[in-house]
Order: sequence, then structure tokens, then C-alpha cells
Amino acid sequence: MELAKRMTKLKPSATLAAAAKAKNLKEQGVDVLSLTLGEPDFSTPENIQEAAIDSIKTGKASFYTPVQGISELIDAVITRTKSDYEIEYQTNEVMVGTGAKFILYTLFQTILDQGDEVIIPVPYWVSYAAQVELAEGVPVFVEGHQSNDFKVTVEDLEKSVTSKTKAFILNSPCNPTGAIYSKEELKKIGKWAIKHNILIVADDIYGKLVYNGNVFTPIATLSEKIKEQTIVINGVSKSYAMTGWRIGYALGNSQIISQMIKIASQATSNPSTVSQYAAVEALTGDQSQVEVMRQVFEERLNHVHHRLSQISGFKIDKPHGAFYLYPDISECMANCGYTDVDEWVSDLLEEAHVAVVTGAGFGTKHHIRLSYATDLETLNQAIDQIIAFVDQKQIK
Ligand SMILES: *Cc1c(COP(=O)(O)O)cnc(C)c1O
Repeated sequence: MELAKRMTKLKPSATLAAAAKAKNLKEQGVDVLSLTLGEPDFSTPENIQEAAIDSIKTGKASFYTPVQGISELIDAVITRTKSDYEIEYQTNEVMVGTGAKFILYTLFQTILDQGDEVIIPVPYWVSYAAQVELAEGVPVFVEGHQSNDFKVTVEDLEKSVTSKTKAFILNSPCNPTGAIYSKEELKKIGKWAIKHNILIVADDIYGKLVYNGNVFTPIATLSEKIKEQTIVINGVSKSYAMTGWRIGYALGNSQIISQMIKIASQATSNPSTVSQYAAVEALTGDQSQVEVMRQVFEERLNHVHHRLSQISGFKIDKPHGAFYLYPDISECMANCGYTDVDEWVSDLLEEAHVAVVTGAGFGTKHHIRLSYATDLETLNQAIDQIIAFVDQKQIK
């Protein structure tokens, strides 16, 4: 049977593909160390688990809910956002959905017509471009400056604006680089977006995972005008170790939100009811576990960054947030006789049994992404094996 033309263009998620490949080798009995996945390695905190169990036992979890999400959860999102960032939203400006990823999908379906352009800074999270294309939009990539943690400036953005530019995706802290935009940088970007009437899609999902005294500023908090120009994307996956529960949310313009809910009403209906009750507890209950997990990530980052930066041919600035490292390995590749980062990554997996994600999936040619959402022992062992691999490959 002939499949839809859009399928020829659609690639599977590079991060999920890398993880699947590692898992495959594992199942063949190979002892693979995987640094591929973008999810916390902690179990969901106990109080959240209990709330979920309670919603099952009391029968609440048995039924559909409003597509937008249960009112307790909408209120919890509003209250948490207000108390964390001093910014206020109304009930009709919020939706809860099946993960931030699906929320983003509904957003692009809502705002893009064929040929509309979305500016995406490089390197970018793998799904942005694919989702824009699924909505028949056109991703316009803007290369950030490696010397400035790959962040883009208004000057860079200005060159990419056309009459078709609809939106700009801001992911701070960034997956894969861990970069965080400063308040000053964000103010300029906000002004620029208002001037051109470009919607800011602020993917704030790593907002609570910032390290070593760095500060995350949500762009929507900078002025009332910028807030009106922004759709905030967030969720419980990363901050509360709840990736499997699939709860994300969006905050912003009620007209856009209501259309996104309409798409969900035809695609998924409400996000899983048991997960919604769990998310209420995550957002309203004891927050101390968030800080405990953050501190563990910070310790790992400091240790792993130090070790990786000593590997011959690895160039790596210290990330400020999220849980990834994104070293430039161009010198290492050259020293080892590689021109293609995919091949380097593939050989690392097959010969050294360490799985990382190729930077090609994020739009750059000489980088790899390593996740430190893994215990220190695994991280240390993986780094030992990377060092041995590089030593052995160096052209003598
Ligand atoms: C993990 C991630 C998401 C999606 O999270 P969900 O689990 O779908 O809520 C969105 N954006 C970025 C940048 C991510 O890394």
C-alpha cells in the first residue's frame, strides 16, 4: 500500500532511536552503558505515587475527565506557576495534555498553515522540526554561537524573519546544550518578537533543573506584552521524575489554548486520569524532592563535566541547566580519522559499548549528547570506556 507522502519526510526521534539501538544490543547480551535518554533515573516521589493509588482506589481514575484537564489540576498549574514565577494566568489560559510533546504538537497544528515558518535555534530538541513539518510548516534553523553557549541573538534572528514567520521556539534551559538565556538576552528577544508579531513558544520544561547558582528566567515574566506574545510549555516529566505519566501543560492566549484543546478532543481526549491526580499532588504537595533530585544532578554534572573536559579532543563548556552535556568532538574525530559523527557514535556503541546520541539529530555535525540522568557509577564506567576508545583510535 502507498503511504502518505508526509511519512517519507518524517524521521523517528533520534534520541529514542539511539536508546532503542542500545536496548537491542543489551538484549543480545552485550553490557551496554546508555547515556542516551532524556529522563530522570529516579522513581516518582512517594507522595505522588500515593495520590495516584488513591485516585484508583476511590474510583476517580476510572473515568474520562474534561479534555482541558480536571479543574484541580488546572488550578494546581496556575498556583504553582504563580508561586514559582510570580506570573498569573486565568483558567481559560491553561490546558493539560498527554505530555509536553503532544501539547507542542497541538500548538503547531493550531497556528501553522502550509508554508508558515518557525524559527528554531540550532542545536534544537529533536521533535520541534518534525512537528512543525507535520503541520506543513517550515522550520527555519538559526545557528547559535558556540562561543556563547550556542545562544542566538536578535541580530541572528532578524536575518531569518520573513513575512511568513509565525513563531520562534525558545528552549531555556536548552536540551541538548544546557544553556540558559539571561534576562537581558530575553528582554531583547521579547521586544523583537513583539515588533514582528512572532509568537514565542517558550519550552520551560527544564526550568527547575539549573545548577551552580545559575538562574532561570521565564521569558513570559518580563512584561505583560511579552506574556501576551508567549505560549509557555511545561510539564511534570523532568522536574518531578514523571516521564512515564505523560502530563504536560501550556499557558497563554486563551484563543490559541481553546483550539489546542479542540485538537486534543479529537485526538486523545483527556490525558490519563490517574496521571492527572498524580500531577495535582506533584504541583501542590511537598516540593522538597525536586530540590533533592536537582542537587544529585548538580553533583553529577560537576564531576562528569570535569572528567569529560580532560578527554583529548573534546571541547565542552559547562552547561547551566537540564541534564545533558554537548561536547564538540571535532578535534577528537579528526585525531581518530572520522569525518562523520554518526559513524563515531556507532563505533563507540559497537566497540566500546557506550551509547550516546549523535549531534546530527540536534542539527550539528561535530557534537554528541550525553545524558547524566544516570547513576555516577555508570557515568564513570562509561567515561572510562570512552577514554579507552579514543586512546585506541588516535592515529599514531
Ligand atoms: C523531555 C522534553 C519535552 C517533553 O516532555 P514530556 O515528557 O512530553 O512532557 C519537551 N521539550 C524538551 C526540550 C524536552 O527535553
